[in-house]
Amino acid sequence: MHIGERKIERPLRWGMVGGGRTSNVGYKHRLGALRDNTAFQMVCGAFDLDYERGVDFGKNLGVDPERLYPDYKTMFAEEAKREDGIEVVDIATPNFQHYEVAKAALEAGLHVICEKPLFFEVEQGLEIQKLAEEKGKLVCVTYGFSGSQLLLQMRHMVKTGMLGTINMVDLKYTHGYGCDPTGDVKSEGQKWRVDSSKVGKAFVLGDLSTHTFYESQLATNDMKLKQVLCDRQAFVGSRYPLEDNAYVLMRYENGAVGRMWCSCVDAGTPETQVIRIVGSKASVEWHDAQPNHLLYQEQGKPAQLMIRGNDYLCDACNADESLGATHVEGLSESWANIYLKFAVAIDAKNRGDEETLKNLVYPDLEHGIDGIRWINACAKSADEGGVWVDFE
Ligand code: NAD
Repeated sequence: MHIGERKIERPLRWGMVGGGRTSNVGYKHRLGALRDNTAFQMVCGAFDLDYERGVDFGKNLGVDPERLYPDYKTMFAEEAKREDGIEVVDIATPNFQHYEVAKAALEAGLHVICEKPLFFEVEQGLEIQKLAEEKGKLVCVTYGFSGSQLLLQMRHMVKTGMLGTINMVDLKYTHGYGCDPTGDVKSEGQKWRVDSSKVGKAFVLGDLSTHTFYESQLATNDMKLKQVLCDRQAFVGSRYPLEDNAYVLMRYENGAVGRMWCSCVDAGTPETQVIRIVGSKASVEWHDAQPNHLLYQEQGKPAQLMIRGNDYLCDACNADESLGATHVEGLSESWANIYLKFAVAIDAKNRGDEETLKNLVYPDLEHGIDGIRWINACAKSADEGGVWVDFE
């Protein structure tokens, strides 16, 4: 159980690029990082493209006004001059800026926590991986739902053979908020999502399914994906050549198969992710809208509902528990769990503690690069008419 006591010697000095007042995701980063005040300390920010608004916002967060910067380049340069300068930067800007900011941050000697999807090309990911290794720094990725501890219970059940041989992986991340096309022109946060120069090769395949793909990798102990076959459409025509709906079939190296449906035009559906892993003996299923519950179905037996915070769950799952079984948890705890692991990982990296790093399960750079592979393989498959494409 984790109830707020420190896990590292002192909080890491942390700042944000993006994530300002109008941002969709900024608050989730802050609630994840700052929940217990023992892992991260917010010291600076270049929160907004609009400098005045960013400064006003940063002051309201309690950041020293001298450390509110007009852009990330000034922030990295000025912070480098201070003895108490920033150590870790969070990148919560639209996708097309992730690569340049991450590169500049590593060059400035900072650890990086970056939004998904990480970058546009796998080559960029490999270049950043090389740079991070040279600088002795980590790059972590905020697949924000992935700190839901019942995903670790799924991982445990797969690993210990409770499901038998894994045969099928059934995934879904759909909602209906993209049915109204006026949002594409009205909302700042949606405009760049449907502009291929700013979002890359895909819309919902990157925006939604990279989360669910990572969570399925977490739950299956990184079962190796071999090939994907994708069909994608823009039901709101102005989004073409990007998609607002996609179906993907998967083939794994071990013979298992899978499917993913991702969509923002699933009319009437609030945000929903489903991960179902089907083995030869039993299945397990998790919904992000019911993150406290795991459905376990053994063939020939009554179904069981496993509930968060109970002793019958595995140690890794219960280590991330903080509220106790009688109180529900949700997205806030998930973000806090991954941020705490980022802090422990960064601290271990700083101390050269490879043993801790090796055993820590969190969305790292490798999994960020896999997210790029996923988007690009799906887009290629769809654009070539729905053919099997290697996951490479
Ligand atoms: P948004 O458009 O709502 O907000 C972007 C913010 O970044 C704004 O405050 C903007 O002023 C600021 N900004 C943009 N460029 C900047 C720059 N160069 N310097 C400083 N500030 C800058 O976008 P959003 O929906 O918050 O998405 C941001 C990122 O987060 C995207 O990569 C998106 O895919 C990701 N995201 C992740 C999750 C999740 O659950 N992990 C959820 C939503 C969005």
